Amino acid sequence: MDHRRRVPRTDVVLADPRLEAAAARLGRGAIKAAVIAAQERARAGEIAPEEVADAAVAALPAGMRAVHNATGVVLHTNLGRAALSAAAIEAVVTAAGSTDVELDLGTGRRARRGRDALGALAAAVPDAGGVHVVNNGAAALVLTATALAAGREIVVSRGEMVEIGDGFRLPELLESTGARLREVGTTNRTSVADYTAAITPDTGFVLKVHPSNFVVRGFTSAAGIAELAGAVTVPVVADIGSGLLRPDPLLPDEPDAATTLRAGADLVVASGDKLLGGPQAGLLLGAAPLVERLRRHPLARALRVDKLTLAALHATVTGPVTPTWQALRTDPELLRERTERLRDDVGAGEVVPSVAVVGGGGAPDLELPSWALALPERYAAPLRQGDPPVAGRVERGRLLLDLRCVGAGHDAAVAGAIRAVLQDGD
Ligand SMILES: *Cc1c(COP(=O)(O)O)cnc(C)c1O
Repeated sequence: MDHRRRVPRTDVVLADPRLEAAAARLGRGAIKAAVIAAQERARAGEIAPEEVADAAVAALPAGMRAVHNATGVVLHTNLGRAALSAAAIEAVVTAAGSTDVELDLGTGRRARRGRDALGALAAAVPDAGGVHVVNNGAAALVLTATALAAGREIVVSRGEMVEIGDGFRLPELLESTGARLREVGTTNRTSVADYTAAITPDTGFVLKVHPSNFVVRGFTSAAGIAELAGAVTVPVVADIGSGLLRPDPLLPDEPDAATTLRAGADLVVASGDKLLGGPQAGLLLGAAPLVERLRRHPLARALRVDKLTLAALHATVTGPVTPTWQALRTDPELLRERTERLRDDVGAGEVVPSVAVVGGGGAPDLELPSWALALPERYAAPLRQGDPPVAGRVERGRLLLDLRCVGAGHDAAVAGAIRAVLQDGD
């Protein structure tokens, strides 16, 4: 059989609507290259001539895909932690072109970069005399350790030497700056006296780390921020992890920036994309001179956030409630109704109780009662690779689809993706 003759011409393949649509996104050059590669595969007999367009579409770079989070994990690290609010997404789109991130439109002069976002944070946490934002929580710690303790000591409890995930450990991160860790206390108990006994003229600061992804129970005690701040003269830095700016009654065990500063911490370090529900960012809030030192440190330039982050952060702090906030508070009864509707819509599965969690972002003890559509486990992979992709959770041989972290407006899209996979499977 002569494959060559039957291989469709380039202009014929390029007229495929899927490839035409992709050309707007990826440019003509990339589409043409994919078509030529597919034609070559057809000539080599690897694929049939009528598969050229499909092969070209499949070979196009997809980029990051939007995934429906039906895992029941509110802040899922592998799904990008916090989903941005509609307001934050709109702000990101607006800021994507040329924007006044560092320009005062009134005077035409240079202005402080990200002043809107920083101002919003300062207004939300009046106890913070100074505010700065860097790339993420880890960067905020690195900047703090470098500026305040490089070549000196950081005093930290043995109970707070945390691994944050993917093999990254806070002690190693801190030591990478040239600071030395002065470990005090034990895994389960550390007293104020342990800290004060360790402080020398070589101490840069005392660090308190919130164990956001584990809990120690039983015979335990830890020095509180207030006691510690009253007992030492060096700065007390608190890594609160989650990014709550104010107390949240739903999350009584999660520290917040306002309360931590009022208790006497000199500096609070937190993430922007955990419970705050914003973009990936590292928040630094605290005593004005301390924050100014960090802001002016040469390393600050290397850890600077981009305009998209600043735009999303501003909209998150000033805007309506975030998807994270909503997911934490959705009424289980409402979730049961939505899940039943989903089952009726797809005509398959069983509605079962589920337990949702906050996830890597904090509150390891909090269980959020929820509901899920249970399907056979074999649907997990095709749903993940479906259109749109839906990520569920496999538990005891079943695939559970928990709608708690799926925006209410997206149920129909999730149903459509499930139906497509069920039809394919039949
Ligand atoms: C998450 C976390 C970090 C790291 O923050 P990133 O924004 O992920 O870099 C540091 N400390 C604590 C206590 C955390 O929970």
